[in-house]
Amino acid sequence: MVRLEDNKFYTEAKPLEALPLPAKVYIPLSQHLGKPCLSLVKAGDSVSLGQKIGSVEAHVYSPVHASVSGRVKAIVDWPHPVLGRAKAVVIEADDSCGPQKMDYLPREDIGELTAENIKNIIFDSGIVGMGGASFPAHIKLNPPKQVEVLIINGAECEPYLTADYRLMLEKTQEIIKGIELVVKCLGIKKVFIAIEDNKPEAIKAFRCFNYNICVLSSAYPQGGEKQLIKSVLNKEVPRGKLPFDLGVVVHNVATVFAIYQSVYLNKPLFERVVTVTGSILEKPKNLLVRIGTPIKELIAFCSPLKEEPAKIINGGPMMGIAQYSTDAPVIKSTNGILLLSKKEAAPLPEEYCIRCGACVRECPAGLLPCMINLASERSIWQEAISYGALDCIECGVCSYVCPANRRLVQSIKRAKLEAVR
Ligand code: SF4
Ligand code: SF4
Repeated sequence: MVRLEDNKFYTEAKPLEALPLPAKVYIPLSQHLGKPCLSLVKAGDSVSLGQKIGSVEAHVYSPVHASVSGRVKAIVDWPHPVLGRAKAVVIEADDSCGPQKMDYLPREDIGELTAENIKNIIFDSGIVGMGGASFPAHIKLNPPKQVEVLIINGAECEPYLTADYRLMLEKTQEIIKGIELVVKCLGIKKVFIAIEDNKPEAIKAFRCFNYNICVLSSAYPQGGEKQLIKSVLNKEVPRGKLPFDLGVVVHNVATVFAIYQSVYLNKPLFERVVTVTGSILEKPKNLLVRIGTPIKELIAFCSPLKEEPAKIINGGPMMGIAQYSTDAPVIKSTNGILLLSKKEAAPLPEEYCIRCGACVRECPAGLLPCMINLASERSIWQEAISYGALDCIECGVCSYVCPANRRLVQSIKRAKLEAVR
């Protein structure tokens, strides 16, 4: 793991602020790992806030919900921040179709809910892993075997991002209630809340509760599941195995907060916190945003810009994805929008590998990035796989440490794609 300049100072002191209601939302039918949803609505339909608008018959999927009350304009092929393009339900906000804010009536029977009841609510609410992985949360709450340890991931190790940090500061009690629900679902007693030491205020906030707080020294990519388990429990998840195999489950703080909202407030997942940041923004912020809001509306709200962005990234600088269109909407896994200046985005000249071994030493997955890169450049995909390309978590550390500026992650991603064709 490596230490990076965290650049969180742009937004770490910025409280959560709601982005004004968008006029139109573009809600992708695929925002999770698994089978894309099919639309349950058609053009002309009236929908109300929180209504289920997408579902499918499958084992691995998560339903999607309307993030505004309004009228369905169309189901279109639309820019998607992760997939490139995907089907999306376009809804024009219209107050005559229903309220634009939910009157949350806290559920009074929380204590009487069984683990099964809670899991069903979480599934129906469309909750997925919100740290970036988008794995349906209810599946993690139905492990194939008994787990003993729950780790709450508050590491937020990716530079610039502060969405989880602000949530931990401002919604501490709610996150604790969410943790209690997860504990009930899994029937476990051992819980660790893992937070990096560059978030002292969050550590202080959680110390008021009766849980083990695991303070980690800041390092990247410590927020990856396997890396976090190693840091907290000093246990390695072997290649090809999952945390379940070690009796461990990891949930991100934003996911646990969404779980709280679904169970306590009957609120499906239709909005989330997004950090909008970068040196060229005059007003970087942590925004509460409706799912489906085009990225350009977030940027406009944080403008003016000091210069035109050379690159716009969905996520952070290490694992985020560069966007080709600001029409792409915020989805359930969007934790940040990062704008880079021309100088920040300029690629360094790529040189020959000098066999220094830095990429091998620093790879958190124990791979040989330089060898995968060589195989990938020669299109020998099977060789790339034999060096472990499929186990790459695409953290970008190898590219970051490479003195020859080799495009290692890009070539490894290519090998992964080609290998499964
Ligand atoms: S090979 Fe993959 S896992 Fe290893 S450092 Fe590079 S991007 Fe990260
Ligand atoms: S870090 Fe770069 S130069 Fe060094 S071995 Fe890896 S690819 Fe080659």
